[in-house]
Amino acid sequence: MPLFGKQHVRLPMMNWSQVIPRPESRNAPTTRDIDCPYCGETLRVPLRAINTRCTSCHKHLRLEDVVIRGDSPLTRVTTCGMILVEPCARFSGALQGAEVVIAGRVMGTVIGTRHVEVTATGKVAGTIATRELVADDGALIDGEINILNADSSITTLTTGADHAPPKYRPGE
Ligand SMILES: [Zn+2]
Repeated sequence: MPLFGKQHVRLPMMNWSQVIPRPESRNAPTTRDIDCPYCGETLRVPLRAINTRCTSCHKHLRLEDVVIRGDSPLTRVTTCGMILVEPCARFSGALQGAEVVIAGRVMGTVIGTRHVEVTATGKVAGTIATRELVADDGALIDGEINILNADSSITTLTTGADHAPPKYRPGE
């Protein structure tokens, strides 16, 4: 008797237009918003994109997150993603990202279009420009801090090696 011969299997007919997707699959984000570091334009890009071109100034934009390790030979890192300077890392030059977290040593310029954090092991000598700065206990900032306020005004703070870093948070 043929077990696998001609057997007719009838699949139930489905009306796919009436199939409702699960709510989580409908609401899962597929895009994210980034700020162009060159012209400030806000762009919506696919979640997993690693680069794009600004629709306003047409510059090529890097979107991936960057980790600075060891004695970095780089002198300029620009991304629309996040930059992390690891605790034992040293970097000299310019860093620009949406969020910059400094746990190592940085000499130069740090621009975080959204947020800069200097952790307890972080040391910065130079200039920081951001909308929001968080400095942990033990963080050392020697130089100038420019905070871009919500009303587009800029608050400038100057710190020295013999001064405690300012505990600045927006709204204070
Ligand atoms: Zn642009």
